[in-house]
Amino acid sequence: MISIKNVSKKYDNGVPGIKDISLDIDQGEFVYVIGPSGAGKSTFIKMLYHQLTPTTGNIVFNDFDYSTMRPSQVPFLRREMGIVFQDFKLLPRMTIFENVAYAMQVIEKTDAEIKPRVLDVLRQVGLETKVRRFPSELSGGEQQRVAIARAIVNSPKVLIADEPTGNLDPETSEEIMDIIEKINNQGTTIIMATHNRDVVNGRSHRVLEIAGGNLVRDEKQGAYGIED
Ligand code: ADP
Ligand code: ADP
Repeated sequence: MISIKNVSKKYDNGVPGIKDISLDIDQGEFVYVIGPSGAGKSTFIKMLYHQLTPTTGNIVFNDFDYSTMRPSQVPFLRREMGIVFQDFKLLPRMTIFENVAYAMQVIEKTDAEIKPRVLDVLRQVGLETKVRRFPSELSGGEQQRVAIARAIVNSPKVLIADEPTGNLDPETSEEIMDIIEKINNQGTTIIMATHNRDVVNGRSHRVLEIAGGNLVRDEKQGAYGIED
């Protein structure tokens, strides 16, 4: 589903973010991207969702060939990818319902389509009683559940998460991981950057370890395994 060939990224100031990585990710896989701070995880993740352009090499995601794609196609690519961040990135002046609904409004779904679907995904993440709240009225774990609901509301093929448990306590992180695991069990590919050792060791999945911009390990059922 995603083919990454000889991808590197050198920043304008000469810093090498990623060095010559090649790998494939299949539909339905659950992939952790691990490594110490500064290893290149975010750089790798940002290239996957076409936020950063590789300096060399190419990425192909289903029918989207990033090297030949026009900028006007990027919104169509993003419709097939849900993205979740460490800091949630919710819109503070919108309610929980509106934050999730907004993702469907921008792709011009009708109100009749939006309402039942938004309520359905908010139920899936356990927030059906908080639809009228604002983000500031929710705990961190709840805000991340809203962000996940927003990311999956348009039924993406892949959910990309950059340190989704980075701001959360261990118990709340487990709740978030239960939700992400459930989404994976429904067939959605998961690609998740994390340096949360307990999360990675608690749920065995494919592990890509990045160190100094290099892919140093690619294991089918990996553990965290390194100190940082
Ligand atoms: P990680 O997500 O694993 O912490 P990053 O991908 O953020 O690592 O960073 C990899 C390397 O690239 C680091 O040396 C970092 O300082 C550098 N880097 C990240 N973003 C930029 C940028 N916009 N400009 C220059 N260097 C950057
Ligand atoms: P946690 O224990 O996960 O950090 P909090 O103590 O922040 O969570 O919140 C516990 C509950 O109280 C949550 O269900 C949250 O929605 C609700 N809550 C927290 N802050 C507010 C607020 N300012 N207004 C309304 N509800 C709130």
